[in-house]
Amino acid sequence: MVITIEKAVNILKNCMAFNRPQHVQWFLTRRCNYRCNSCQIWQDQDYDELSTKEVLSGLDVLRKMGTIEVVFSGGNPLLRDDIDEILAYASRFFITTVYDNGSLAAEKIEDLKHADFVAISLDSLDPHKNDYIKGVKGAWRRAMESIRKLKENGIRVSVSPIISMHNIDEIVKLTQYFVERDIPVWYCLYSYDALASHKESFSIGRKKDDYNIVDANKIIQLCTEIMEMRHKYSNILVTENLLKALINLYANGTRIWECKALQNFIVINHKGQVSGCHIQEPIGSIHELPKIWNSSKLDNLRRKYQKCSKCTYLCYIFYSLHGNIHGNLQIIKEHWKNVKLFMKLFDQ
Ligand code: SF4
Ligand code: SF4
Repeated sequence: MVITIEKAVNILKNCMAFNRPQHVQWFLTRRCNYRCNSCQIWQDQDYDELSTKEVLSGLDVLRKMGTIEVVFSGGNPLLRDDIDEILAYASRFFITTVYDNGSLAAEKIEDLKHADFVAISLDSLDPHKNDYIKGVKGAWRRAMESIRKLKENGIRVSVSPIISMHNIDEIVKLTQYFVERDIPVWYCLYSYDALASHKESFSIGRKKDDYNIVDANKIIQLCTEIMEMRHKYSNILVTENLLKALINLYANGTRIWECKALQNFIVINHKGQVSGCHIQEPIGSIHELPKIWNSSKLDNLRRKYQKCSKCTYLCYIFYSLHGNIHGNLQIIKEHWKNVKLFMKLFDQ
């Protein structure tokens, strides 16, 4: 974990700015060693990805454009041999999170010391159910081992279940289990890529009827319980705004947010192509981004995406809801309140 005054000051400065790609999800690779039932990635893996040098120069572009946080995912980004170098460079400037499906973190502890946060995806406390969802025997045991080792080594680890009809009844229990052990929990919501245009940047969610959240009452009840739990546990990383937005969506079918894709967030795929979200078509490469960011073409897309309601990926809703100065500060506060990085810095 890299904590410098320069980094904190830059992050705070960039929080105050408008119209910047402040939140970036970078899908570093389309390779994965797991076989999750609801995921498209492992079914069409691609070995063509950016070199280390190209990723680092892409991070330089983001630094100059005012990015606050970068979340590295994949596929499994830990399959890249250069993940240590990428994390070390990124975390000099950004709040840096890296995802692992739990399979590799335990053996990459030294590499992961460079990240601010490591998120392990784990879908159930029941080993058999988790392994069924992940499509790999032993996934649960490896994930638990990774979580334990990360924690032992002082690395900020969080757990991130994908909520679906398979595990919706046990999310409260899973949350309680981890937050009581001082391990923060963030959620993903099972969603599939509904555009199916074949032009999308990166397909992730595979349509699976048994995963789809069809019981509105259950998700409303879950959000209400999580909201209650937030009063007791500070390690639940979703905000009250996000939970209220979900309750409203499932209760009334309406969105209390407008999508801010290409406004305050972008995604980058394994080939370095940028798009508003992974479901939309790429607009150009990361290295072209500064040239096109203020173009009328992107302004038109921003207006179009603002009206889009094609997905319920939680991170996109989260960025959309918190896409202003106050929202950015809230994200930073939520992320950093537990580690008290800012507090430490300003106490020095
Ligand atoms: S959901 Fe994640 S861990 Fe599972 S197959 Fe897809 S990329 Fe791999
Ligand atoms: S709502 Fe936003 S994030 Fe979701 S598909 Fe549409 S543009 Fe993408």
